[in-house]
Amino acid sequence: MSAGGACPFCAGAQTVYLESDRWLLLRHADPVPLAGWMMLASRAHRGGLDELAADEQGEVGKILSVIAGAVRAETGCERTYSISFNEAVRHLHLHMIPRHASDPSTTSWALADRYRATARKETPAADPAEAERAARAIAARALPDLAALGFAAPQS
Ligand SMILES: [Zn+2]
Repeated sequence: MSAGGACPFCAGAQTVYLESDRWLLLRHADPVPLAGWMMLASRAHRGGLDELAADEQGEVGKILSVIAGAVRAETGCERTYSISFNEAVRHLHLHMIPRHASDPSTTSWALADRYRATARKETPAADPAEAERAARAIAARALPDLAALGFAAPQS
């Protein structure tokens, strides 16, 4: 499938925390509302879940389950949301978002309000150093379970 012009994921603009032949584990770029906000992106340019190839379809559930567990373990959140819009960037990416029991602004659609407030700089973003630390810890925790699917830390 074509990369389609200026797709940032196809251009490799993001820091990759884990990768396989078919997937990239990323974190949300700064400003990110919450440390531990991760993203799983297809390596190939897919517009959404309905465009996945059979081998990608077969892996995505396990990968999301492992990442959700790692986000919860590393951030102490109560639950992990999984959302895929593919709106601003029309390349499949699933947001994995920590939902904290102690923070009502991370609950369901309130999270969208917080997201926009952070983008407008009305609500402080997560500390970039903490977001980076959390992303690396989540990747390290997820790697043993994802290695069987061919994931590894990127060679840099
Ligand atoms: Zn792309």
